[in-house]
Amino acid sequence: MIKVKNLQKAYGDLQVLKGIDLEVKMSEVVVLIGSSGSGKSTLLRCLNFLEMADSGEISINNQFIVPARTDLNKVRERVGMVFQHFNLFPHMNVLENLMEAPVQVKRKPKEEARKRAMDLLRKVDLEEKFHCYPEELSGGQKQRVAIARALAMEPEIMLFDEPTSALDPELVGEVLQVMKDLAREGMTMVVVTHEMGFAREVGDRIVMLSEGQIIEQGHPSEFFANPKHERTRRFLNQIL
Ligand code: ADP
Ligand code: MG
Repeated sequence: MIKVKNLQKAYGDLQVLKGIDLEVKMSEVVVLIGSSGSGKSTLLRCLNFLEMADSGEISINNQFIVPARTDLNKVRERVGMVFQHFNLFPHMNVLENLMEAPVQVKRKPKEEARKRAMDLLRKVDLEEKFHCYPEELSGGQKQRVAIARALAMEPEIMLFDEPTSALDPELVGEVLQVMKDLAREGMTMVVVTHEMGFAREVGDRIVMLSEGQIIEQGHPSEFFANPKHERTRRFLNQIL
């Protein structure tokens, strides 16, 4: 579903991604971990072409993406992204947040977009909040709306960048539950998170990024029981 070859990205003198090779299969859930500053967000942003890699190759569902020759907005429609800070449109209510891109970008008829939005709100258990504005919602509710909004574009892949890091602890579970449901339905997902319970239970593979390189990866059972790299061990000791 995603194929990344020798991806490099620098900001000025700072080489952030130093040759990333990564493949994500259809319906696979890959959990990306690593210390702050290791390049996790940059990698996700490159996968979604919010950020342009300096070199390397990215294929999405067998389509090799050449930025100069591809409509990147079309690619972004296929790769949904959920951020730490929700990024909902503050001046739109929940329903309008979900309908905006399908209507404006995909030119869906309003009625169809509204129906799909309500279906998605039911799925994230927020049907009764459709008329609320983001400021009237809790952090967990906002993040569930953000997930539903990404799903409204019918993406092939979902990227999550620390979706629960900004939440009060008691609100983390409801967001992880929505992500678990999504994984169970077969969505292909790349998730940056420090929630190791989620990683263990839902992840098909854990990928450890350190200083812009993948230093270790494996199935959660093997990865957590027997981390091979010293930096992985140190990182896990810090967060567990
Ligand atoms: P992580 O998500 O793993 O914490 P990031 O991908 O956000 O790491 O950042 C990796 C490195 O790149 C950090 O040193 C960060 O300061 C730097 N960085 C990220 N975005 C930018 C940017 N837009 N301009 C300059 N430096 C950046
Ligand atoms: Mg980050």
